[in-house]
Amino acid sequence: MKGYSIGIDIGGTSIKAAAFFGNADRDGLISGEIRRYPTRTADGAAPVREIIERAIDEISRGLPGRMIAIGVGTPGLVDREGNLIGAAVNIPGWDGLPLSRALEERWRVPVSVANDANMTAYGEWRFGAETGSAGDSLVCISLGTGIGGGVVLDGRILVGAGGMAGEIGHVVVEEGGRPCNCGLSGCLERYSSATGIAVSAVRMAPDFDSPLSREIAAGTAGPTAKQVYRALSAGDSLAAAIHRDSSRHLAKAIGVLAQTVNPKVIVIGGGVLEAGDIIIEGIREFLPRFVLPMSLESLNIRRASLGESAGVWGAAAHAWDKNA
Ligand SMILES: [Zn+2]
Repeated sequence: MKGYSIGIDIGGTSIKAAAFFGNADRDGLISGEIRRYPTRTADGAAPVREIIERAIDEISRGLPGRMIAIGVGTPGLVDREGNLIGAAVNIPGWDGLPLSRALEERWRVPVSVANDANMTAYGEWRFGAETGSAGDSLVCISLGTGIGGGVVLDGRILVGAGGMAGEIGHVVVEEGGRPCNCGLSGCLERYSSATGIAVSAVRMAPDFDSPLSREIAAGTAGPTAKQVYRALSAGDSLAAAIHRDSSRHLAKAIGVLAQTVNPKVIVIGGGVLEAGDIIIEGIREFLPRFVLPMSLESLNIRRASLGESAGVWGAAAHAWDKNA
């Protein structure tokens, strides 16, 4: 079919848009331009919707062929019909918005809306190394200020009965542990996100005597996850303990996933990975405690390959694959 789909990825500071020509060869698909529109999601639903509509208008202007479908990745939970549900969204007025219907009425094409972490997983599955085949499965975990996750099973995003599938960040790894915004205690993201690592640094510093612990005591280190990993590369004992703690919790949650989903590959992305391969190595070190020996051998865990483009390309490819 001649034409293109549009992908939109709604992030906290910018909205990304890209057009996707599904009949080009695979390498050609992801080399196209991504446009970025700065936004403040805190301003509410109306300005975010206006920017989405402007982005679709501008990116599709002058393109050959017709627009076949639109895919949107959004923060928050999305039900099976593409409606935004639940209050865990940082855009006032976003909850309950029938986004897919609103965009369908405006452009008269099918619109698929999914959680941004799910679209990111789809992008990594579709364009990352070793995947993209119909029978393949992938779990994608993003370690940022929070922890997002998505599961692609047999080439489809796993949504779940209530849109909750893939919420890896809220797997409880410490019963009765650190309180989380979601209402539970001991969620993975309270320990292994950038925010969680910083909290660990403050809590664990009094038990150590190291350059990092002295900086934290003196108030000269934030601390941030970046500072922790910089200290780790200099051999700091507190930083090493924080890293082990974060890795152990990650391995625990990933072990549960590996046993239940048995994916072909697990990819880990997000800002925390700026620390390098040490994040993946840390997870691997603790996995034997949580994964059956027979599964461990075939468990392929590696860094995500698309970076921050995964969400917008995933949204565009998802819309194409469903409708073209
Ligand atoms: Zn939680």
